[in-house]
Amino acid sequence: MRRKKRLLLDCDGVMTDFYGHAEPWVLEFFRQNNLVHPPRNEIVFHEYFDRVLTKDIEKHFWAYVDSTPGWTRDMPLLPNTREAVSELRKMVDLRCVTSQHDGPYWVRERFATLQSLGFTKKTAYFTAGKEAVGGDMFIDDTVHHVRVWAEEQVGARAILRVHPEFAPVAASVWSDQISTWGGILAAVEKMIEEG
Ligand SMILES: [Mg+2]
Repeated sequence: MRRKKRLLLDCDGVMTDFYGHAEPWVLEFFRQNNLVHPPRNEIVFHEYFDRVLTKDIEKHFWAYVDSTPGWTRDMPLLPNTREAVSELRKMVDLRCVTSQHDGPYWVRERFATLQSLGFTKKTAYFTAGKEAVGGDMFIDDTVHHVRVWAEEQVGARAILRVHPEFAPVAASVWSDQISTWGGILAAVEKMIEEG
């Protein structure tokens, strides 16, 4: 029998609302330091870390995360994620590929969230090298990851998950973009039909 198509999903910004969860800390940091935080709809999402969260602010942010047990555990899912993931699991060989972070709580708490979505130690990968994980389709909300994965996994489809509340990503930056679970389910159906 032909194997099921393999779909790789990123976690933060695809299944979990990392930015919504981080935003109160970020806004408070900006307020305390008299910095001006641009509104989301004026920030192109993939430039967020370069333009808004500078390396220095990022260091403070991760120090906060690493000293706050439960922060990662309490990160909400993006709307309709649970339903979409269980639909997708019926259709494809579903895996999660998420970045590694070395804090004391991150991996354990993140894995608990992934387990609640039906992933296991065999189907959830924590790695800084997402492009080494092969599949038929890859969905991530970071342009860099999508680009690097597509370069490595020639012939497979890499989709950028975009968020309507952020400024749009130019098609010239990455043309294959989807903003909803409905769009992702349709793309997966099409991939299966096409064989
Ligand atoms: Mg992400």
